[in-house]
Amino acid sequence: RLSKRLEAVVNYIPKGYRLADIGSDHAYLPCFAVKQGIVTSAIAGEVVEGPYQSAKGQVASEGLTAAISVRKGDGLAVINSGEVDVVTIAGMGGALIASILENGKNQLETVQRLILQPNISAISIRTWLRNNGWELVAEDIIEEDGKIYEILVAERGEVDKSYVHLEEGLLLGPFLLNQQPAPFLKKWDREMRNWQRILSQLEKAADSEENAIKIKELHAKIHLVKGVLKENE
Ligand code: SAM
Repeated sequence: RLSKRLEAVVNYIPKGYRLADIGSDHAYLPCFAVKQGIVTSAIAGEVVEGPYQSAKGQVASEGLTAAISVRKGDGLAVINSGEVDVVTIAGMGGALIASILENGKNQLETVQRLILQPNISAISIRTWLRNNGWELVAEDIIEEDGKIYEILVAERGEVDKSYVHLEEGLLLGPFLLNQQPAPFLKKWDREMRNWQRILSQLEKAADSEENAIKIKELHAKIHLVKGVLKENE
């Protein structure tokens, strides 16, 4: 069985699209997508030897070597131009995902859809998408084993449409902000508690200009998030 997190990513793969899953590790996601008949072929990319071997082993043991091409290389470099329609990148930090997209712009030229699942810092991805002509078309948020994961879906197009208020839109996500599902409220409640904890430590620490700046930034972030959460209305 696929994890709830990866299933939430697979949910957004349009049927019949050609898939590349970057940072695929065991290649669970492409194996599942092929077995479910969502895609007919896929590429699993991995930059590290161990996970690359795991991906090859998994694909072979499931009898999917004809459908899934396991390739070793950095980010989107494993894709040839025009080869795929949808790219999934899951289970990494948002900054790393954004750098993979930035370094692979050439390979993205013919890609229709990106499905991205950052473990942290979704803001880095939203910022990259916005600056590079990708429009956020959907967002999802799920909880699994006590952890909360965001899923961002983007297509080429209008950039500004979905961001009514840019600052909170980039941080919290325009769709999630609008819907505010339970895992979303839980995530930002956790974040704010964490910021409060850091804030009280900083306020106890010795006066310094650096601390003063951090304190001001944290107050601003807490104020921003508190101001938009519906439970605080
Ligand atoms: N995508 C799977 C998932 O969500 O369960 C695996 C996530 S795993 C935590 C992250 C994987 O990304 C690791 O196997 C790592 O080797 C791979 N990775 C990190 N940077 C990469 C890059 N630049 N190109 C390809 N793979 C990368």
